[in-house]
Amino acid sequence: METIKSDLIIIGAGLTGLTLAYLLRAQNLQVSIVEARDRLGGRILTSYEDGNAPIEMGATWLGSKHTELNALLQELGLAVFEQILGQKAIYEPISTSPHQLVTLPPNNEPSFRIKGGTSTLIQSLASTLKANQIHLNQVVQSIQALDSGLEVSCSNQVFRAPIVVSTLPPHLLLTRIKLMPELPSSLISLMKQTHTWMGESIKVGLRFAAPFWRKPDSSGTIFSNVGPIPEMYDHADFEDQSYALKGFLNGAYYSMSKADRLKLVLMQLRKYYGKDVEQYLEYEEAVWRTEPFTYAPYEGHVLPHQNNGHRLYHSPYLNGKLFIAGAETAAQFPGYMEGAVRSAQHVYDTIKAQLG
Ligand SMILES: Cc1cc2nc3c(=O)[nH]c(=O)nc-3n(C[C@H](O)[C@H](O)[C@H](O)COP(=O)(O)OP(=O)(O)OC[C@H]3O[C@@H](n4cnc5c(N)ncnc54)[C@H](O)[C@@H]3O)c2cc1C
Repeated sequence: METIKSDLIIIGAGLTGLTLAYLLRAQNLQVSIVEARDRLGGRILTSYEDGNAPIEMGATWLGSKHTELNALLQELGLAVFEQILGQKAIYEPISTSPHQLVTLPPNNEPSFRIKGGTSTLIQSLASTLKANQIHLNQVVQSIQALDSGLEVSCSNQVFRAPIVVSTLPPHLLLTRIKLMPELPSSLISLMKQTHTWMGESIKVGLRFAAPFWRKPDSSGTIFSNVGPIPEMYDHADFEDQSYALKGFLNGAYYSMSKADRLKLVLMQLRKYYGKDVEQYLEYEEAVWRTEPFTYAPYEGHVLPHQNNGHRLYHSPYLNGKLFIAGAETAAQFPGYMEGAVRSAQHVYDTIKAQLG
C-alpha cells in the first residue's frame, strides 16, 4: 500500500477544510486533503440544472453579522444577494383551520445567498489549490500516532504527516474514525454529545418555469405548523430569471422513498397554489440523515447545537499533532458557515504560531 507523505493532512473537503487549505497557501507547506465523498463541499451542495435555478441542498443563507465569511467571499470576488421574502407569507397555524396570508414584519436583518449558488464558494476555494492536493473517495478509517507524526489510513491509501486536522463534525469523527491512542475520556464524552448542525434535516426544492406565487394574494414564503414542510422560500436565482421554491421537510420522513416524499410535498403545496405546482420542472431533495459522511446516530438524545463551540475543541490533541476543527467546534457561530471559516482561521493561526 502506497504511503503519501506531506507536512499537513486535512481530513474533509468541506468549507472548513478548503478554507484552511486556502489560508495555508501562504505557508511553505505540503498539504494533503483527504475526502471520503466523490465531491467537494460536504454540507455545501448546490444542485445545478442547465438553464434552471440552482437549488441549495445544504447551506444557503448568511447574514451581515457573519463577518469572516463575508470577508472571505469578498476576497474571492463572490457576490451575495438578498433572500426574497415578499411582504406577505402563507401561514398555516393549525391543521383544523385553513392557511392564511399574513403580513410580514419589516425585515431588519435580511438573509443573503451567494450568487451562482453556495457551491461557487467551494469551487472558488478549490481553484486556488493544486489538483494533486485533493484526494477524493478516501474514507479515513483510522488515525494512529507514530513517533514522527500521525498516520491516516483509508482502505487502500495511507497518508502520513506531522500534523493532522480533522474537519469532521466531532460526533462523526468519534463514531467513524478509530483513534490510536484513544482521546481523553472527557473529550470522548463531549464528542458523543456534540450535535452536528442540520444532520437530521431534509431539504426539498422544485424548479418552475414561472414564479406563479408572486401575486398579491399569494407568496413564496411559507410557514406551516402543520407540515410536513415547515418553511419554504422563493429560491429564484440572482438574475431573477430562473425560479424555484425551496424549503425543509420534516426530518421524520427520512426513511420514506423519494416518490412518497414528493407526494407529500405536492399535497401540501397544492393547498396553497392549486394546480400550478403540478407544473414543476424538477424535484430535488437531500436527506442528510442518510448521508454516512455527515450523520451518525447518537447514543442518547442530543439537542440542536448542544456542545457546539466547546472550549475542549480549541486545543490540539495527541501531543499537539491532531486538531479537531469543523463548523461545530468554532467559538462563535458554531454549526454555521461562519463557524467553519472561523474554525479554519483558528487552526491556521495556531499552526502559524507554532511554525514561528
Ligand atoms: C441542510 C443544511 C442546511 C444548512 N443551512 C445553512 C445555512 O443556511 N447557513 C449556514 O451558515 N450554514 C448552514 N448549514 C451548515 C453548513 O453547511 C455547515 O456549517 C458547513 O458547511 C460545515 O462545513 P465543515 O467543513 O465544517 O463540515 P462538513 O461540510 O460536514 O465537511 C466535513 C467533510 O468531511 C468529509 N468526511 C466525513 N467523513 C469522512 C471520513 N471518514 N474520511 C474523510 N472525509 C470524511 C465529509 O464528506 C465532508 O466533506 C446547513 C447545513 C445543512 C446540512
